[in-house]
Amino acid sequence: MYLCELDSTVVEVNNQAIETLGLAKANIVGTKLSCFSKRYAVSEFEELFLSISDTEVSTFEDMQNNTETGTFPIEARGIQISLNNQKYILILARDITVRKEAEQQIFELAFFDTLTGLANRRLFIDRLASSLELHHANASSGAVLYMDLDRFKTINDSLGHGIGDKLLCAIALRLTEILPTEATCARFGGDEFVVLLPEAGESDSICAETAAHIAKKIIEHMGTPFHIDGHLLYCTISVGIAVFPASDYSAKDILRHADTALYRVKALGRNDFQFYDPEMKSSAQERLQIEKGLHQALDKQEFELWFQPQFSAEGSILGAEVLLRWHHPERGVIFPDEFIQVAEESGQIVEIGQWVLEQSLKQLAKWKLQGLPEGFHRLAINISPLQFMQVDFVERLLALLQTTQLPGHMIELEITENMLLNNFDIASSKMSLLKQRGISFAIDDFGTGYSSLRYLRYLPLDILKIDRSFVTALSPSSEEAAIVEVIIATADRLDLVVIAEGVETAEERDTLLALGCHCFQGYLYSKPVPASQLYELLAKELHAI
Ligand code: C2E
Ligand code: CA
Ligand code: CA
Repeated sequence: MYLCELDSTVVEVNNQAIETLGLAKANIVGTKLSCFSKRYAVSEFEELFLSISDTEVSTFEDMQNNTETGTFPIEARGIQISLNNQKYILILARDITVRKEAEQQIFELAFFDTLTGLANRRLFIDRLASSLELHHANASSGAVLYMDLDRFKTINDSLGHGIGDKLLCAIALRLTEILPTEATCARFGGDEFVVLLPEAGESDSICAETAAHIAKKIIEHMGTPFHIDGHLLYCTISVGIAVFPASDYSAKDILRHADTALYRVKALGRNDFQFYDPEMKSSAQERLQIEKGLHQALDKQEFELWFQPQFSAEGSILGAEVLLRWHHPERGVIFPDEFIQVAEESGQIVEIGQWVLEQSLKQLAKWKLQGLPEGFHRLAINISPLQFMQVDFVERLLALLQTTQLPGHMIELEITENMLLNNFDIASSKMSLLKQRGISFAIDDFGTGYSSLRYLRYLPLDILKIDRSFVTALSPSSEEAAIVEVIIATADRLDLVVIAEGVETAEERDTLLALGCHCFQGYLYSKPVPASQLYELLAKELHAI
């Protein structure tokens, strides 16, 4: 409490004020109140005090400031009082540090991403909206870069959220290091990062040039692996770019455009950037259309199974992989890369997967009746994680074996590493049950998940499929050769068969052979073909014997 004259000279203080200021009373009384204020000068206090009435309390905020106790925020309430016919101002001040901190925290929660400290969606849209107005006014251009990490889910699922979070923070840091200071970088939750580049050029084309340069820089910088908790994490990024202002689009429109461009990058193979082009259909629209179409696809019998044969080193057919094709009434053939993910997210994969199983087994039973060559061992069927995790998956598959009268050893299920790591116990007990009936298991896309090798030892696995990415352009001197060699050595130790997928050239095959892989699948041998064509190939072998 301070009692001051109208010119802000302190005439009396209470003990709390003495304690708070950490000064002797003699050093407080007689000085101007502005000595302890960071915001108000002597003249300003005089002006303020003149405005304080004797009927109503005035409130103002200040920063208490003195050499003894440092600076902290206060809230002061003042009123004019009369003592012995003399007018004074009575000030009651209190420390509001805690409240200010809470306010700051609320502000940060409202506008910043708590994990990375970057802007959040709300702040970003705010800034983009005001920046749009500015760009309209001064006829310059800016750009929005919408980014998404490729395969972040794999890292998060296999190594855990703790590591996933640390990786996101490390990425946020790397982004802020390379972006120009005027850029706003935000995280929209998950692994989506968005950058606003204001005033990046006087024209759209100059702006596009700048944006492309920055996108390249970002992609390049993500190329260096991240060291996190003893893991070396490789992370690539895809970038969609929208330049603004193009006509009268709102901030949300521009974001959607950048997101659409991003979706296109993903569809074209990731780790790259693309500019929005009005021809692109929005990703949400596209996904929704696929989801709608899938609803009818089963009823209208638009699905078809194709088969890709697998070969031994001697060139005979060992088996075949079932690959789904969708004959869309308007769009023609759609490949699974375009719809499996959507079906997985919407849950439709459960029904579709069951259909694939049924049809595959029926087809195999038919072929078995017609006669199969001796070397043909089994049919490999892709099983999505959601499908495998259904409580009745085992039961249904065993029932199908029963109705088709097929021995389990003619069926191979292709599953992915990530599924095993997420649900190790459930997956392993289901696998054991099926294994007892002779069904074998292959790990698909082996080497692309961030997995520990632990499960290889504890699960009833039979086959490792070396991912196509290691096989493409494989030559004895390529870096991939070393990886493939390790995969094959691991498989040998664990008594697993290795098969290479995506074998396109004789050089790839020869390198694989030299490294010890004896089973092949790929365009070099045969593309996926309809059932009748596969049987023609099989019949040829049958008759050759
Ligand atoms: P995947 O299991 O890795 O299947 C191999 C993919 O590689 C197939 O693509 C195949 O056509 C392609 N391929 C085979 N040989 C070569 C080659 O030499 N070069 C190149 N560039 N590609 C080759 P497809 O049929 O488009 O299938 C894509 C993915 O969709 C599959 O990858 C699989 O994960 C998924 N999928 C396909 N059918 C089913 C299914 O019935 N159920 C489930 N859950 N997933 C499926
Ligand atoms: Ca597969
Ligand atoms: Ca594969």
